[in-house]
Amino acid sequence: MKMSSLLAPTLREVPAEAEVESHKLMLRAGLIRKVAAGIYNYLPLGLKVIRKVETIVREEMNRAGAQEVLMPNAVPAELWKESGRWDKYGDLLLKFKDRKEAEFCFGPTHEEVITFMVRSDVRSYRQLPINLYQIQTKFRDEIRPRFGLMRGREFIMKDAYSFHETEESLDAEYKNMRAAYCRIFERCGLDYRIVGADNGDMGGSGSEEFMVLAKSGEDEVLSCSCGYGSNVEAARALPVRCDDVPEAQQGIEETPTPGKKTIEEVSAFLKKLPKQAIKTLIYTADNTPVMVLMRGDHEVNEVKLKNVLKAATLALADDATVKKITGADVGFAGPVGMKDIRVVADESVQFIKNGYTGANRTDFHLVNVKYGRDFMAPELFDLRITRKGDMCPACGQKALESHRGIEVGHIFKLGTKYSDSMNAQFLDRESASRPFIMGCYGIGIGRTAAAAIEQSHDEYGIVWPLSLAPFMVLVTPATPNDPVQMEIAAKLYISLREQGIDALLDDRDERMGVKLKDADLIGFPYKIIAGKTAAQGMVEVKSRRGAIKENVEIAKAVDMIRQSIQEKKY
Ligand code: ATP
Ligand code: MG
Repeated sequence: MKMSSLLAPTLREVPAEAEVESHKLMLRAGLIRKVAAGIYNYLPLGLKVIRKVETIVREEMNRAGAQEVLMPNAVPAELWKESGRWDKYGDLLLKFKDRKEAEFCFGPTHEEVITFMVRSDVRSYRQLPINLYQIQTKFRDEIRPRFGLMRGREFIMKDAYSFHETEESLDAEYKNMRAAYCRIFERCGLDYRIVGADNGDMGGSGSEEFMVLAKSGEDEVLSCSCGYGSNVEAARALPVRCDDVPEAQQGIEETPTPGKKTIEEVSAFLKKLPKQAIKTLIYTADNTPVMVLMRGDHEVNEVKLKNVLKAATLALADDATVKKITGADVGFAGPVGMKDIRVVADESVQFIKNGYTGANRTDFHLVNVKYGRDFMAPELFDLRITRKGDMCPACGQKALESHRGIEVGHIFKLGTKYSDSMNAQFLDRESASRPFIMGCYGIGIGRTAAAAIEQSHDEYGIVWPLSLAPFMVLVTPATPNDPVQMEIAAKLYISLREQGIDALLDDRDERMGVKLKDADLIGFPYKIIAGKTAAQGMVEVKSRRGAIKENVEIAKAVDMIRQSIQEKKY
């Protein structure tokens, strides 16, 4: 390919709309262009990178024994109604109608369609296990599409689904996929961690995320040197005791706290510590109110709460509901004397000493409150947001550290959630019908490319992992209209290509400074410059990471690059 005919519109200015480096660089290097919020054109260089990620993913999925299929983007509503997600999935789901008024969605994920595929054509345990995958465009109507390909609305995903006769078979495939993912992200040159994750709305029993550590990551990862690592959303917390506070000696008392509503206001007013507060929140879970108790200095993890309540929808109750349940304004709710409402508490609440809480009377709180004497929470769970500095829930010895991460992949054990709701069954060894046991495994293709840039760039531009670079080598004459330099450059370009090394010839009539700026911005791992000494048989070879910067004989330049690629050091 010649640079003069390549559509690679590089930009000198940093586009105002881009916040993170990968987005800025993908725009500046001419890889992508925005069409609408979260919707992009992939230009030639961008598409080459995407295809490289896809190839790695495809090779490793095939190697792991999965089979490639392709499902439609337009998915009939009936399938999503069968699984119950038509109404539950929320506003992320883009719905539309065809000319006959039949309802469809643009698939954001394909559990329903694959379950339909397998229930139609897989009948017997003899056909199991099976793992089917596709690489396909998804649509999710994200509230805040941002960071370019990192969080798009239309984006490319590899999604795989496995079907099993037994839990053991699912466990084995989950491990197989986990290992395949490790190979994929290693080959993509990424520094990643595997962390525990929340199952979200997918159902099922276990899930892990592959996180690329990067400052701009939207996820928070908590980890410990013992090996524990989890998305903060799912990080377990050990209950904490309150041993440094003396137990209440007196009985419970009501005390005025006029206009003091927040934990900070009330604790300052009562001269107590926030951790002595029994914070009382009223939530509405699937239209039913629930009282949630937390230690005053802890925050509710709504993902954990939603999971323990097994709720499809969860939100803080409105003021009117709170008033109806407690008889008081918001800010004065408490568990003492509460009846006729489900009460769930975080485990640490049982250890609060000499506590205080709302009196269920506007402008009043109760003090000297004791768990077990004045109130009980019939249901204790781990409900709090685990934080950096909390003790590791695995070893219990060390404080957790916090890192930012980009979720590039996610593996789940789904169980029978979809096969049950969609009635997908096979005949087992005893000729009895049983639901398939399922797993699912996703990778964001564009997000992986973006994560690679996020992790590897400098002030001049992208520093590609060799496996993802759109072109391996840029060959350029130093003086564009020098026929000798041009001829040598063109010959080197041809011989690189003959050796299977993807090269680009910069034949543009541009100053050397401009060409080198573009080269570093796009991030070619290697450059060969045919300059003044070319006529004497010498060219300059430079690598983007700086390992090579040499004048070599023309005949040796290609070998030098080939060897450097083999050694994966540049
Ligand atoms: P997130 O929590 O980031 O919204 P998710 O957990 O909803 O993602 P999954 O359903 O697990 O995403 O999708 C599988 C993979 O698809 C993710 O691990 C991620 O790499 C990618 N992905 C998900 N949403 C997007 C998006 N909006 N843009 C680009 N890639 C995405
Ligand atoms: Mg996920």
